[in-house]
Amino acid sequence: HDRRRLSADEVLFRTGESGDIAFLIESGSVEIYLEHEDGAESIATLQSGDLFGEMALAGNHTRTACARAVADTELLVVTHELLNEQMARATPVLRHLLRVTLARSRDLLHRLQQSSTVDATPSARYSGSEHVDRELAVQRLRTEQALREALRDDGLQLHYQPIVDLASGTIAGFEALIRWYDPAGRPIPPSSFISIAEDSGLIVEIGHWIIDTATAALAQMGKVRSDAPPFCSINLSPWQFDDPQLFPSIRDALLRHALDPRRLRLEITESAAFGDPDAVRRLLDQCRALGCALLVDDFGTGYSSLSYLHRLPIDAIKLDRSFIDDLGESRGAAAIVRAITGLAADLGMYTVAEGIETEAQSAACARYGVHYGQGYHFSRGVPLGEALNLLRA
Ligand code: C2E
Ligand code: CA
Ligand code: CA
Ligand code: CA
Repeated sequence: HDRRRLSADEVLFRTGESGDIAFLIESGSVEIYLEHEDGAESIATLQSGDLFGEMALAGNHTRTACARAVADTELLVVTHELLNEQMARATPVLRHLLRVTLARSRDLLHRLQQSSTVDATPSARYSGSEHVDRELAVQRLRTEQALREALRDDGLQLHYQPIVDLASGTIAGFEALIRWYDPAGRPIPPSSFISIAEDSGLIVEIGHWIIDTATAALAQMGKVRSDAPPFCSINLSPWQFDDPQLFPSIRDALLRHALDPRRLRLEITESAAFGDPDAVRRLLDQCRALGCALLVDDFGTGYSSLSYLHRLPIDAIKLDRSFIDDLGESRGAAAIVRAITGLAADLGMYTVAEGIETEAQSAACARYGVHYGQGYHFSRGVPLGEALNLLRA
């Protein structure tokens, strides 16, 4: 139901039919037309990248024109839910503009059906910025669809990057990092698709998959090193805090694998502190009560004040890579690492340094009292099998 294939001349829908999905043309061509007593009147011929049928999505779910394939055609289905998700995340101004525009177009088509004298051939020309918006929107819809398919067809993976106890030099745990490869096997950077997952709401389902996958991995890691079972950190996107199933899914996954909840750590960014404070607080309290540690990721890069450090139940701070990069080059960076480590200690928290790429950075972090280190100096994120081997070594 994500895609539709039409052969040439096949009619997709007719005026008056009900419908609540729109279509994006992947390949082929579609004609939009009106049926009059004396024959059909073509309104537009659409090509790859064009969207149509969108008025049924927002309006009263009745098609205002007919659509048929001109050639063999492949369509992506754009559902009502998808539009609603996007609408809920849009600004009120955008939502309003979209509704007004859809209402106007609907009205125009309606008048077209009444009389054939109105010249309202929808313009295929777009102004420069509209064109950019359109390209971006089409690109995002495509990526979103591909991501949905990857999630469904086991196309996503988690890699595990070791987190090292700087005092002893041994692996204490891992951070789970999501991986997605394009059909040619090239990695698609999470920074480019996580935001698409967030905008579309897919992040919620991906989040559940991450919890299931990471806890299954934790069970295997625990078998390999049962004397000191490692922990695993997962990244939580701020959007997941609105998911009523998030906590149950964490609790149930831990139970299912009979894991000590302390082995699951949750990384949140400072932006989480900007959400509905009560909802965030409630969720974090629940996870904390269960035993999961909470870490602030990318600490020092956001704009929030330090006040949430004592307002939220935080256990640890992850020093952002930018401070570690500059260690040894600037005294400022060293001062910041020392200051944050001291602040964390005073608040009863521990620290993790990320992005350690050299022995010197590792040694400096250890000297400044940072507890854990993570970075290419130790290892990149690796598939589970390799992570288990690292534990055995
Ligand atoms: P992050 O949480 O800060 O993750 C650490 C990123 O730094 C990872 O990039 C990791 O591969 C990279 N890294 C680790 N060590 C080094 C190093 O020594 N040098 C350098 N230059 N980079 C290093 P990645 O995997 O591309 O992830 C980027 C971001 O995407 C993550 O930043 C996180 O915000 C997000 N992300 C990744 N996986 C997930 C996930 O499962 N869920 C969510 N919500 N976000 C994720
Ligand atoms: Ca992280
Ligand atoms: Ca980070
Ligand atoms: Ca980061």
